[in-house]
Amino acid sequence: MPKVVIDEARCKGCALCTIACPQQLIKLNEKLNSQGFQPAAITPEDLIKCTSCALCAKMCPDVAISIYREKK
Ligand code: SF4
Ligand code: SF4
Repeated sequence: MPKVVIDEARCKGCALCTIACPQQLIKLNEKLNSQGFQPAAITPEDLIKCTSCALCAKMCPDVAISIYREKK
């Protein structure tokens, strides 16, 4: 399973990653982060569907998303 790691503390809740994901897997969390923003989040159920395309990570202006691909 690919791993999408979102650094909540860096996230400013701009939602660009939610738009960038072709599978629409990233949502904004209702619980605010330490900066007072709604941070991006992905559920374990949605993570299974992730293709590790990294579009979300490329889109993030705050470099808050890291993608770890599965070794084949
Ligand atoms: S890596 Fe691609 S499929 Fe996975 S969450 Fe990011 S944009 Fe969506
Ligand atoms: S693009 Fe980056 S800063 Fe914006 S909501 Fe997504 S993770 Fe947060």
